[in-house]
Amino acid sequence: MNRGEFDYFRYEDCDLCGECLARCRYLALTPREAVEEMKRLVAGEPTRVVHRRCISCYACDVFCPHDCHPYELIIRAWHERYRERGLPVRASYLMPASHPNFRSDLVRTMAPWEQELIRTWKATPPEGELVLYPGCNALTLPHLLHGPHMDGIVVSGDFELCCGEMYFRMGLFDVVERVAERLTAYYRGRDIGTMLFACPAGLNLFRNVLPGQFGADFSFRTRYLGDYILEKVESGELGLKRELNRSVAVHDSCHGRVLGDEVTASTRKLYALMGLETREMVGDPADGLCCGMAAGCNRYRPEDMYLAAVKELRAAARTGAGELATYCGGCHLTLAMMRWLFPTRQPVRHLLEYLKEALGEDPYYPAPRRTLRMFANVVRKAFPKLASRRTYRIEIPSP
Ligand code: SF4
Ligand code: SF4
Repeated sequence: MNRGEFDYFRYEDCDLCGECLARCRYLALTPREAVEEMKRLVAGEPTRVVHRRCISCYACDVFCPHDCHPYELIIRAWHERYRERGLPVRASYLMPASHPNFRSDLVRTMAPWEQELIRTWKATPPEGELVLYPGCNALTLPHLLHGPHMDGIVVSGDFELCCGEMYFRMGLFDVVERVAERLTAYYRGRDIGTMLFACPAGLNLFRNVLPGQFGADFSFRTRYLGDYILEKVESGELGLKRELNRSVAVHDSCHGRVLGDEVTASTRKLYALMGLETREMVGDPADGLCCGMAAGCNRYRPEDMYLAAVKELRAAARTGAGELATYCGGCHLTLAMMRWLFPTRQPVRHLLEYLKEALGEDPYYPAPRRTLRMFANVVRKAFPKLASRRTYRIEIPSP
């Protein structure tokens, strides 16, 4: 592979220490093997292990001590594959650009008040001191963004306004570039002070990936909603009414790990303030496992996602906690769905579901039923295409 277009690896800063791959929880490489694999990757040669076993968890970027972006070097091979062959049609139902897709198909099955929220967010212009970008995961779980914690925040967005995260994780760099152009044009000239994100994936895309690697240009500040809420709770502006008194295994998201304390520390502080006893699966959040969603990015195969999710569900079960706590809507949906196939004793709950309960609302946990429908839709609409050899290319509409 030649260096050049969409090459984000910092060759000049890499000392081939191999730490990025040696620490990976999926490759199972010795430090020496990691160095050898890294040498092959940097030379643009086929690797023996990485391109076969990588599940696109993004953690190697966090492990690199010199910020060289080994992840982007690895998934560049998938970008080349896409350019040559396109995407298998079996993946099309899972792509945000498809209408309907596995998320948007769920809207008509939601409670009327949730559907009304989605309609309102679509019709609301993104203007104001505090605007929240809901992204496709929160749009699939609109109840998360309804309650006193959202007072004073303008929610604006729709399924059409994709942040490009799935395309980025699949190495579809030219598609992400189109997304960056589209979002730049959409937000140009809007009067937005701070854009809040409930989803760490959206935050990382808008703050780092789209401007840093794909030429997007946004004039607003960006902030994680959990960090904003923590400030409100600590200042007493948002009063918690209930102690939750439960134990939770803490799952971190891939983008949460990349963003660091703003996400990983603020969520833990919020859990603690709500009375939740947190049980860690790893000593350092960077070493945590993926929910399984990203594992479909390499071979586009559902069994890869299942196996990765089971690994995390098992790790959570080993903590002995009563529940499994997530803060990313994508992780939440994936783990809740996989529990139908690999039942565990720990229900999966979202940070904002805990918060709403702590603020005095009655518990409302739609993810189990919603993900059962999601699974049934995927079986009906995507599985019949598993054996197909047909491919296609993703079209992103003009701004
Ligand atoms: S993306 Fe994740 S699975 Fe792939 S090499 Fe990096 S750390 Fe390992
Ligand atoms: S990318 Fe970073 S961690 Fe990986 S070999 Fe290079 S310097 Fe070491």
